[in-house]
Amino acid sequence: MKIDLLFSYQIIQNLHLNLFSPSHHTMFYMKVTFLGTNGWYDTVTGNTCSVLVQSEKFDIIFDAGNGIAKADRYITQEKPVYLFLSHFHLDHIAGLHTLVKFKFRKGLTICGQPGTKEVLDSFVREPFTVPFAKLPYQVNFLELSEGEHPVPFQTECRWLVHPVPCFGYRLVIDNKTITYCTDTGFCRNAIILARNADLLITECGLLPGEQSPEWPHLNPENAIRIAQESDAKRLALMHFGAEVYKTQHDRAMVKKQFEPSFPGLVVASDDLCIEI
Ligand SMILES: [Zn+2]
Ligand SMILES: [Zn+2]
Repeated sequence: MKIDLLFSYQIIQNLHLNLFSPSHHTMFYMKVTFLGTNGWYDTVTGNTCSVLVQSEKFDIIFDAGNGIAKADRYITQEKPVYLFLSHFHLDHIAGLHTLVKFKFRKGLTICGQPGTKEVLDSFVREPFTVPFAKLPYQVNFLELSEGEHPVPFQTECRWLVHPVPCFGYRLVIDNKTITYCTDTGFCRNAIILARNADLLITECGLLPGEQSPEWPHLNPENAIRIAQESDAKRLALMHFGAEVYKTQHDRAMVKKQFEPSFPGLVVASDDLCIEI
């Protein structure tokens, strides 16, 4: 009887830790939620690009495609929010017009390449939408040069290969390394950013075997090559080209075909959540 009671007590204690102390250091896993996984435009397969990373102290969002509107399903809005923008193609910023729905109580910091504030001010304004200055919380801009920055967490950015200037990011936070590289063709900088990463999130704009030298994107083979050459521990594919991946089945075929060459391959869909 005594043993049973002790056992029950331990279960309750563990439950208590799980339920009430999610930030307990040894218990904390970083959560990565794919809010939008389409490239180019929204379809039945999902919204355009946005990924939420929940660390112990910060909520971090990569890109502001239409998927960003779903962020408040997952975050309390009580932590500082950092939004990293890769580039200004609309499938990565169109969701900015939904910023007015949020209540980020610790403010929003938008990080991006040099010139970010000027470009966004030309778009996030009347008559298109509510300007930054009128949002119900503080918005700060952090324009980053190529290199390493203490954002306040360790951040590295490098240029990728795309028809317009586009940054890939490598963040080290809570002892985990996450690399986000989209949009891009196969390039050395993506490999450098993803070196030994716990998770590489990259794009799959092209079908297996498809090439697009005039408008660089990745097919699954080249995405896997980047993950293998960088020794990334996990690879998640998103930014599936809306015009070529028309159904979830098309994405599932990528998983089936390529998981043998990269075990644990994640083929993301909207609202998928993984822990690292
Ligand atoms: Zn894109
Ligand atoms: Zn693009």
